[in-house]
Amino acid sequence: MKNRLKKYIPNEFKESIYEIDFLALYERGIRLLLIDIDNTLANYKVALPSEENIELVEKLKEMGFEVILISNNNFKRVSTFAKPFQDVEFVHYALKPLKCGYRKALRKASRNYQKEEVAAVGDQLMTDVKGTNKMGFYNILVRPIEKKTDVITTKINRFFEKKKLRKIKKKYPKLYEERLKDYESM
Ligand SMILES: [Mg+2]
Repeated sequence: MKNRLKKYIPNEFKESIYEIDFLALYERGIRLLLIDIDNTLANYKVALPSEENIELVEKLKEMGFEVILISNNNFKRVSTFAKPFQDVEFVHYALKPLKCGYRKALRKASRNYQKEEVAAVGDQLMTDVKGTNKMGFYNILVRPIEKKTDVITTKINRFFEKKKLRKIKKKYPKLYEERLKDYESM
C-alpha cells in the first residue's frame, strides 16, 4: 500500500483471535502466523497463556501453520509467556512497526516464507497493522482483550490511533465501515 494512511488499515477486523477464519487463511496460502501477545492472546497482567491459548496454537499447528509470537515487550515477559507452547519461537523487543522484528521472526522460522505466505494478528494500528502492512503481510486486527491494562507506551499509541481512525473515516469511509468501525466502537 503506497498511501500513508492506508498503512493503518487492516485486511480484516475480528472481535477476537478465536473469531479468525484460519481455514480461509490457509486456503489463501498463509503458512506462517505472527501473533502478538499483549491484549491479543492475553491481557498485560496475565503472565502465562490460558488453556484456550494453548489449544488454539496446537490446532493451528495441526492445520499446518507455523506460529511465532512477536511482541514489543521485554525478554522476561515474552519468554515466560512463550514457554508453555510447544515448538513456538518468539521475538521480544520487536520494535513494531519497524521491520527489524518481523525480519527476525522470518529468520527464526523453520523455513523460508514468501511474504504472501505470512499473516499477522495484533490489536494495535500503530504497531501491528502498520508494521505488517509495511512488510506486505496479510494482517488481522483484533479487539484488545482488556484495554485498561495497556502499558504507557500503548496508551500513547492509542492516542495516535484515534487520530488515524478519524482520518481514515474521513478519507476512506467504506474501508472504515468495513474494517475499523467495530474496532473503534468499544
Ligand atoms: Mg498488543
